[in-house]
Amino acid sequence: MQPSPRSPTTPGVRRFLDTTLDYLLWPLLFGGSVLLMAYGTALGHGTLAFNLTYLLLALTLCVLERVRPHEEDWHHSDGQEIPDLAHTLLTKLSVQVLIISATAIGLAKSIGDQPSGGIWPSHWPMFFQVVLALVVAEFGLYWAHRVAHEWMPLWRFHAVHHSAKKLWFFNTGRFHFVDTFKSIVFTVPCTALAGAPGPVMVWVGGITAFIGILTHCNIRMRFGWLNYIFNTPGLHRWHHSMDLREGNKNYGENLVLWDLIFRTYFNDHARRPPSEIGIREAMPHTFFGQLAAPFYWKRYQAEQKELRKQMRKQKSTPEASQAP
Ligand SMILES: [Zn+2]
Ligand SMILES: [Zn+2]
Repeated sequence: MQPSPRSPTTPGVRRFLDTTLDYLLWPLLFGGSVLLMAYGTALGHGTLAFNLTYLLLALTLCVLERVRPHEEDWHHSDGQEIPDLAHTLLTKLSVQVLIISATAIGLAKSIGDQPSGGIWPSHWPMFFQVVLALVVAEFGLYWAHRVAHEWMPLWRFHAVHHSAKKLWFFNTGRFHFVDTFKSIVFTVPCTALAGAPGPVMVWVGGITAFIGILTHCNIRMRFGWLNYIFNTPGLHRWHHSMDLREGNKNYGENLVLWDLIFRTYFNDHARRPPSEIGIREAMPHTFFGQLAAPFYWKRYQAEQKELRKQMRKQKSTPEASQAP
């Protein structure tokens, strides 16, 4: 006899499989991306392998966001697709310009030509070298991020990233280019001083890109103990909270090690991270407006405050005239 589809065991089995998938998705997506890049690198096509893997990961996240969303409300358009894309492209361009400029003045060569006899353990297997480089780079990334939240002159640029009203794979690269420069300025000296060689840094770049796009995706997943090693989407959703007791936490880009050490780690297992995210300040809706506003932040905020006051006044005027 065929088991009835309404069998009491069916929902239980389905729930078990669903929960298992919740826990497996992040490791599968991250691990799969790393393996694909490793395969391409072994074949001698590291750059191509990274680009194709990143594209494949983005497409997979796009589909999974439709099938297994974490927040249904984040499916709706926030009207920021063009600014999101423009910031992503400008950030990529800024990094390229920085690399070309560094090459022109010989800085990149001097970093790339670090003698292997320095403090860097070049004799270690590649895996352990990459782990060490991730920890070293993370120190710079952590402080670049933390200072952007705690020092107003830098917050105004980082506010562009936090002004997003929803998280999805597409707004991973929504950073003001000044914010991106600042992260590079903080991170490169850390790894350069340690003497991490070029191939190791290529891996750090690839892993940062994979974890970056994963932290922003709007997909239902669970992370368990991974929350104590990696910056997961679960932790990053708290980081985008408007409540600064939650938002000024979880600064790690790839790892949470420095958050744990400097006591800025935050996770609350009893609650869901907030679905309403963003900033309390005003932010222009257009790409060029977002590029310009941080440069005259206080004046822009004052203008917007005045505008809101006038609008409230206009709204209350007809009611006031109807009053007896
Ligand atoms: Zn932030
Ligand atoms: Zn973010």
